[in-house]
Amino acid sequence: MSGKLLIKNGHIIDPANGLDEVANLWIVEGKVAAIGAYDGEADEVIDADGKIVCPGLIDMHVHLREPGQEWKEDIESGSRAAVAGGVTSICCMPNTGPHIDHAGIALQIIARARQVGLCNVHPIGAVTKNLEGKELTEMRELSRCGCVAFSDDGLPIWHAGVMRKALEYASSFGFMVIQHAEEKQLTAGGAINEGWVSTQLGVSGMPAEGEDSMIARDIMLARRADARYHVAHISTQGGVALVRKARAEGLKVSTEAAPHHFALTEEEVLGYNVDAKVSPPLRTEADRLAVIEGLRDGTIEVIATDHAPHHEDDKRCGLSCAAFGIVGLETMLPVSLELVRSGVLTMPDLIAKMTANPARLLGLESGTLSVGAEADVTIFDADTTWVLDREKMVSKGKNTPWHGKEMTGLVTHTVKAGRIVFAEGEVRG
Ligand SMILES: [Zn+2]
Repeated sequence: MSGKLLIKNGHIIDPANGLDEVANLWIVEGKVAAIGAYDGEADEVIDADGKIVCPGLIDMHVHLREPGQEWKEDIESGSRAAVAGGVTSICCMPNTGPHIDHAGIALQIIARARQVGLCNVHPIGAVTKNLEGKELTEMRELSRCGCVAFSDDGLPIWHAGVMRKALEYASSFGFMVIQHAEEKQLTAGGAINEGWVSTQLGVSGMPAEGEDSMIARDIMLARRADARYHVAHISTQGGVALVRKARAEGLKVSTEAAPHHFALTEEEVLGYNVDAKVSPPLRTEADRLAVIEGLRDGTIEVIATDHAPHHEDDKRCGLSCAAFGIVGLETMLPVSLELVRSGVLTMPDLIAKMTANPARLLGLESGTLSVGAEADVTIFDADTTWVLDREKMVSKGKNTPWHGKEMTGLVTHTVKAGRIVFAEGEVRG
């Protein structure tokens, strides 16, 4: 928007610039104009007294379902859910129908997202055609058309030879390959984590080794190819240890954790709770603590939701047949704030994992409040408590394990390129 927006007296935390202070933030013509003193009058003022003001959050792992499954979510409803959660940039995964495995679809998604105009949508291109794990896509062309990384997410790049070629090819252009690490020969038929809960419920399990073995294989291949390799939604103690070791060795290996994996355990599915069925599954307390330790020591640089909306019909059919997935955009911030309350992370460290860090990994211009940057801003009250009602969520997907639970931390405003797109609990425009 044109004009001047003043965000007054907020506690500004901008990890990209090492800012952590109470100050005024001035936005002029959609860009950050000044932090602190500014000569001029505001057309609009947001009083951020007692609130935190940070760069608009980035969620680098989102399933938007458009094209192909718009009844579950579409670019518009996903964008609305994002800004309601304080997220102004999302990366959307390629397991749509058709898949994001050719330039036309990437361009179509970007065009539709611009038309909606609420948040940045950056497609992740497929690594293989049809996500079949056989033939590589034209990654270079996809990159030219706006894809910011590559993945077959939803599915693993299972074939070791194909993965090797993908890493070698991606490496020559500096592209990052994101792996949904799951050795299907170990997890076939599994619905939840393999362990005492799966035994108790009599439901087939997915062993942690299904994730660990693929991460181990991939790290060997990434080492040889000198490639950038990123583990999606890491969930196991073994996986975190492998990534930690690879990073200590200096390999270009990174990873992300989803809030459900550091906030919940497999016990959530006791009572056959289909809304806690997700892939990779909620794991044991030891795994959860290992993910938290990975976040604390920097092994895990990014928090990303794996927002996976489903229709009720895909969920209400018993644990074994229900679709995998949890919606995350609207609960990302409050659930993650627990890491600060429990002393695992400082507030700047937490915010960096949802702004500066994913921006750096993906080469995005967002995730900063630098003067001159597009003014994407999230304002939240870290202490306000509220109860999550799935029916009031903006996403079409209501599949959340936090329905009826108390949340601490409330997004009060989301600003995209200087325009207030979410305020007072309502998405605007
Ligand atoms: Zn995945």
